[in-house]
Amino acid sequence: MKNQSVISKPPDKLILPRQLRQQIVEHCRQMAPLEACGLLSGKPDRVKTVHRMTNTDSSREHYTIDPREQFELFKNLRGTEDLVLAIYHSHPHSEAYPSEEDKKLAFYPTVVYLIVSLEKQQPEFRGFIIDQEKTVREIPIKFLNTD
Ligand SMILES: [Zn+2]
Repeated sequence: MKNQSVISKPPDKLILPRQLRQQIVEHCRQMAPLEACGLLSGKPDRVKTVHRMTNTDSSREHYTIDPREQFELFKNLRGTEDLVLAIYHSHPHSEAYPSEEDKKLAFYPTVVYLIVSLEKQQPEFRGFIIDQEKTVREIPIKFLNTD
């Protein structure tokens, strides 16, 4: 899938400033027990902005990003230097690992699929590249302190 607004090569890590990490955690906790989802944009491989999206499935076990919201974001990113780097969603009751459904519905082989597990008291963040053969490769998430 070719899309100018999406990172063109899978990054080998994702840098996430701590305040953005916190925004994601808040979104995921607000939506629980339903799954939350959203997109992260910035310049490879550092996240600059969190974009909350509507999970049109309203489900505890899967998500679909509202296609109109996603289209709108892609449109807004065009003409800027920022790209979609990652797609995040929460697992309110399970580990931070892609489900079979997540793999099946991973259509962007270059973006990071960031999964936030709320299963334990401390939210767990893990990032994965899922290629066209649905092979899952974990990449590190580096949290960055910003003042
Ligand atoms: Zn999932």
